[in-house]
Amino acid sequence: MYIDIIIKNGRVVDGNDNPWFHADIGIKEEKIVKVGDLSDANSETVIDAEGMVVSPGFIDIHNHSDVALLADGRAESMVHQGVTTMITGNCGNSPFPLMGDALEDAIRSYGSQYDLEVDWTDMEGYEGRLLRQGISVNTGLYIGHGTLRKAVMGRDRTELTSADLEAMKELIGVAMAQGCFGISTGLGYFPGMYAQTDEIVELAKVASRHGGVYSTHCRATHMFPHSLMEAIEIGERAGIPVQMAHIGSSTCQRPNWGRARSVTLKLVDAARARGVDFTADIYPYTISGGGLTMYVPEWAQEGGMDRMLERLADPDAREMMRAEVDDMVHHRGWSQLLLHKLSSEKYRGYTGKTVQEIADAEGVDPFDLACDILIQEEGRVPFMGMFGMEEDIQALMRHEAVMVGSDGTAMSPGGSPGGGPVHPRNYGTFARVIETYIGGGVLSLSQGVHKMTGMAAWRLGLRDRGVIVPGAYADITIFDPSLVREKFTLTEAPGFPDGIPYVLVNGVLTIENGEHTGAKAGKVLHNQRG
Ligand SMILES: [Zn+2]
Repeated sequence: MYIDIIIKNGRVVDGNDNPWFHADIGIKEEKIVKVGDLSDANSETVIDAEGMVVSPGFIDIHNHSDVALLADGRAESMVHQGVTTMITGNCGNSPFPLMGDALEDAIRSYGSQYDLEVDWTDMEGYEGRLLRQGISVNTGLYIGHGTLRKAVMGRDRTELTSADLEAMKELIGVAMAQGCFGISTGLGYFPGMYAQTDEIVELAKVASRHGGVYSTHCRATHMFPHSLMEAIEIGERAGIPVQMAHIGSSTCQRPNWGRARSVTLKLVDAARARGVDFTADIYPYTISGGGLTMYVPEWAQEGGMDRMLERLADPDAREMMRAEVDDMVHHRGWSQLLLHKLSSEKYRGYTGKTVQEIADAEGVDPFDLACDILIQEEGRVPFMGMFGMEEDIQALMRHEAVMVGSDGTAMSPGGSPGGGPVHPRNYGTFARVIETYIGGGVLSLSQGVHKMTGMAAWRLGLRDRGVIVPGAYADITIFDPSLVREKFTLTEAPGFPDGIPYVLVNGVLTIENGEHTGAKAGKVLHNQRG
């Protein structure tokens, strides 16, 4: 028998939480054709996986590379971790539907961040552009409620009309018919923050009818546990599976330290017990990331970015928000917000410092500094910082309904455009799960792999990925658990992890001996439950 690629001598972990077993794997074209004994088969390409784990390629169910993939289809920082599929369009932000203010904002921000020209408006157009350029990993998308709301209602209006609701429902139907996996919300961000629960329920019902999932970045962390209860309520009322995004950073901030089991998981278990199909993803860090606008009050963000910047510059408006902002930031403190990717002339030199440190150096109050920096950086001020306790992350990670998602973006060596430090999850999420959580005994090998592969595939209804069985697509990651090392750092762009020498995407070697081959065998995946 002739086989294109044979993987021999490895310990196969199938992605379904079964114990590892010895088997050879045979690949023909883009699929796995045999799992068993291939000692009689011929192949020009034989990978010796002696001492290594042969796993399904990792599926990152919570990823933000939708635009980054257009800028650089190699997705290096993700594929080097073993990721073969990324689900994007998260936290309310998707690269479609682009019309009205959503189109205007996309042209502006994709242009300034990635120097990209926007020549599409819907999922089909975005997909066509991706495939013309080529991608090294598979990708699937949610339609983002924030983008949708901006496309239909513009930046200026916050109150929903029934015509708005109908227009949004129609666009969700179009996106779902084009292959979306569901709808995502960003209820802590503009403009998702203005949506009432009823609005999300009505929209989620449309996604549900098309076999979609509701992925939610819930309301601001100081609104916990109501933010979690709302996510559960939406799942219950709309009859849709809920995927709570980055449940660690969404539920484990002070004052909820130490309450992952006693509060968060109690609510989750109770919801599941009464029939709500609720799952979540988590990134394996106690460091979160976001944008400083997360701490600007809702009223001050009305009308969008330009209006917000005007208010930040207006002394009276600034005084009105001072107490509210200090209160929101209080639970983590200004000294826990480390700023990166600063590009303005005034603040560029402070990249990698905290708001508190920069305020001290400038001799101003940290709240005023935050306002000034938002103005200078035109609203784009990414931060990262400690938010929680490791025990909480571990408790959530172990739970049967929680899987791994990076919340990261694919990057090239040197990090994002502009360079400098970035959140280590962009390079290290999956390596860290292997090194620290499986290696440290928090998860067994089969559990850890399941949470990075088969569980995400199950959640999305992908029947032929995330598992090693004959007939599945040959998305495969080969790693040596004793050698996997994340290159963790907060002071510069992290390097690619060690110990993951082979990654195959649709049967094509994309990482070989630890090097990216340049292959672009990725596909745009469509919802199979539609
Ligand atoms: Zn989010």
